Amino acid sequence: MTRLEVSNLKAYYFTSKGVVKAVDDVTFSTNESIGIAGESGSGKSTLALSILRMLQPPGRVVDGKIMLDGIDILAMDEHEFNARIRWKRIAMVFQAAMNALDPVYRVEEQMEELLRYHDYVGDDVSTLLSNAVKQVGLGDDVLRRYPHELSGGMKQRIVIAMALLMKPSLLIADEPTTALDVLVQAQIINLLKRLKREGLMLMLITHDLSIIAEVADRIGIMYAGQMVEFGSTDQVYREPRHPYTQALLQSIPRLRGEKRLTYIKGSPIDLLNIPRGCRFYARCPYAMDKCREEDPPALYDGGGNEYGYVRCWLYSRH
Ligand code: SF4
Repeated sequence: MTRLEVSNLKAYYFTSKGVVKAVDDVTFSTNESIGIAGESGSGKSTLALSILRMLQPPGRVVDGKIMLDGIDILAMDEHEFNARIRWKRIAMVFQAAMNALDPVYRVEEQMEELLRYHDYVGDDVSTLLSNAVKQVGLGDDVLRRYPHELSGGMKQRIVIAMALLMKPSLLIADEPTTALDVLVQAQIINLLKRLKREGLMLMLITHDLSIIAEVADRIGIMYAGQMVEFGSTDQVYREPRHPYTQALLQSIPRLRGEKRLTYIKGSPIDLLNIPRGCRFYARCPYAMDKCREEDPPALYDGGGNEYGYVRCWLYSRH
């Protein structure tokens, strides 16, 4: 049984200007931790919110299927999803969540409030909280502190600990290191790696490909609402196939070797007016006539990487 399976997912925003197809027919499945990368507006955060069923109006999932450990989570009613899945099996650390800690309550009060919200019944609460902060590398004393007494890195650890309180099997982290300085970023990355080694499945949503390279086993590259490339992180970094993935990787600095950094010319398409054909057509150095006419389907790999695919006509045999 595959741990996470997303099939033909469509999540749209119904705005007064028209329908924004933020996630448009996204498919992938994975048993390992995954990183979702892409520029702002590519649909990666909408994908994460769809999995946690927290997309707010005017957004909603209009089609597709999401299976977690064999459970069809979109088919559940809201009450059942809340009781069994949300925060219990899937939790999320939202972008900039550390800034949402309430300044007037101590950390332990905020964590206890969360447990009350979830009608928690189980281990002694003080032991649970103490274990939760230890799990993210902090001492007990942090529980009695107020958010303003904590550094940015400590606050980020606290929000991760809060997300893990109900012992989920999948943790979605949206830009988990943004707004942290480089040393603290490295500490949070090490924490995520350790949690992964301890059995937690991670889904990292980020524009920072270097975090995905460090933490995730698989990667999905999003562009204009579609997943244009999916595969093992190693394979995609070594041999990026989609011209957008290639351009993304050429735009990040490497420590070794001399390499000219490039940028991706042009701007993404307007998701209110999606043109016919490939969505990367206007920015692609390899664009062909066919690309303007037809949107490429997901072209799956054969052999050992059964779940890898690329959406690009360059790889079509027809
Ligand atoms: Fe470029 Fe064509 Fe591939 Fe699109 S389908 S990425 S335009 S080569």
